[in-house]
Amino acid sequence: MAKRPSSIEIRAYQVGFGDCFLVSFVYSAKDTRHVLIDFGTTELPKQLQGPKVHMRRVADHIRQMCGGELTAVVATHRHADHISGFATDSKSGNSGTVIADCKPRVVLQPWTEDPDAAKDATAATRDSARSAKGFVAGLDAMHRLADHAWRIGSKPPPSMSAAAAKQLRFLGMDNMKNRSAVENLIAMGSRKGARAVWAHHGSNSGLVGKGLLEGVKVHVLGPPNLRQTETIRKMRASDPDQFWQLLGGKGLNGPRVAPVKPGAQKTGGKTVPAEARWFRDRVARLSADQLLEIVRVLEDQMNNTSLILLFEVGGKKLLFPGDAQIENWSWALEDAPDAKQTRALLAGVDFYKVGHHGSRNATPRKLLWENFEKRGSGPKRMQAAISTLKGKHGDSKKKTEVPRKTLLEALKAETTLCNTEDQKVKPGEEPCQLVTIKV
Ligand SMILES: [Zn+2]
Repeated sequence: MAKRPSSIEIRAYQVGFGDCFLVSFVYSAKDTRHVLIDFGTTELPKQLQGPKVHMRRVADHIRQMCGGELTAVVATHRHADHISGFATDSKSGNSGTVIADCKPRVVLQPWTEDPDAAKDATAATRDSARSAKGFVAGLDAMHRLADHAWRIGSKPPPSMSAAAAKQLRFLGMDNMKNRSAVENLIAMGSRKGARAVWAHHGSNSGLVGKGLLEGVKVHVLGPPNLRQTETIRKMRASDPDQFWQLLGGKGLNGPRVAPVKPGAQKTGGKTVPAEARWFRDRVARLSADQLLEIVRVLEDQMNNTSLILLFEVGGKKLLFPGDAQIENWSWALEDAPDAKQTRALLAGVDFYKVGHHGSRNATPRKLLWENFEKRGSGPKRMQAAISTLKGKHGDSKKKTEVPRKTLLEALKAETTLCNTEDQKVKPGEEPCQLVTIKV
C-alpha cells in the first residue's frame, strides 16, 4: 500500500491577533512531516510578553516540534498578522531566523507574491500572460498608504474619535510592508534544495511528492488569478471611487478624477511617496469614517489574495483558507468551472481553520458553512480552530466585530472548537493547543 499518514496533528499557537498553525503529518514514530501555515501577529494578549520574547518562544517551540526540519512553509498572504514572525530582525526576537534554520523545502505563497512578476502581472511569471493593469503594483502601493494611515492614526487630528484612530492604527499596521519577513520568505524559497511556489486556484501546490507530503492531496482553491476572474480586485458598488486614484491606477474601475504623478516629493527633508502625498493632502477633507473606509478597502483586497488550501488524507479533509473573503471564495464556490466539484469536496470537511479570525465576511454562510455536512453532534463531528483576539477589529454595534458573535456561537454549538483566546499561556505552559485528526 502506498505510504500515507496515520494521523495529523495541528498545533494552534497563541499569537493574539494573527495566525500560526503547525500541521504535522505523522507517518510513523520516526517519520513526521511538518508544514507551517502562517506565523504572524499584530497584537498579543496583555498577559504575554511582547513579540520580541513571545514570537521567539513560538519559533523555538516550532523548531523543537519539527526536530529542526520543516517540509514546507506556507504564507497565505502578506498581512503582518500572518507573516510578521518570519521577520529576521530583533522586533520579533529574530523568530524568522529560527524558522529559516529549519530549512523548509517548499515555500508556498499566492501568485501575487512572485518577486519576478512584473508590476503589471495578472498571474505568476511562469503563467506569464500579462495585461497592463497593475494589480501587483497596486498591492505594493498599498503599503505606502498603509504606512501613512498608521501615522495619521498615531497622531490623529482633534476631529477624529479615539475609536477611529485606533482602527486606523491597526489597519495601517496590518497593511504595512513587512520587508524583513517578505525578504526572508523569498530567501527561504530560493535556498539551494528548496523550491518557491506561487499558486492560484487549480494550480499545483508543490507540497506533494517524494520526501514531501505523500499520500496527501492538496487542492489550491484560491486565490484565482486575474485571468480566471477579476473579482478579487473589483470593489463593491459602495466602495469609494477614491480607491483607484489612490493606487495611481489608470481608472481601472472608477473615474480618473485626480491622477497621481509618479515619483516622490521632498517635504521637510522627508521623502513622501506620491500616493501617500495624495492621501495626506486629502485627509483634511475626509471624515474619519471616509478615511477608515478607504483603508478597509486596502485590507479587504489583500485578504482576497489569500491562499485557500484543502488537504485530503485518506478521506479526511482539512481546510485552511487564510483570511480569504467573499470575493476570493466566490470564484471557488460559484464561478469557477469546477465550483460544483469544489462544493462537493468541501461538504466533507473534518477540520476547518476558521477564516479571517472569525470575521463575518470570510465564512460564506450558505455555500460554505451550511454545506459542511459534519456540523452538529454526530460521531464524525467536525473540528475547528480559530486564532483571534477580541476587541481588535470591527465594531459590535455595526455587527462587524471580530470574532463575530453569531459565528462564534455557531462554531461552539456545531463543531469541537479550539480557540486560541482560551489559552492564557502561563509561564511553563506550551504556547499552543493540539488538535489531532485520526486518519
Ligand atoms: Zn489575518
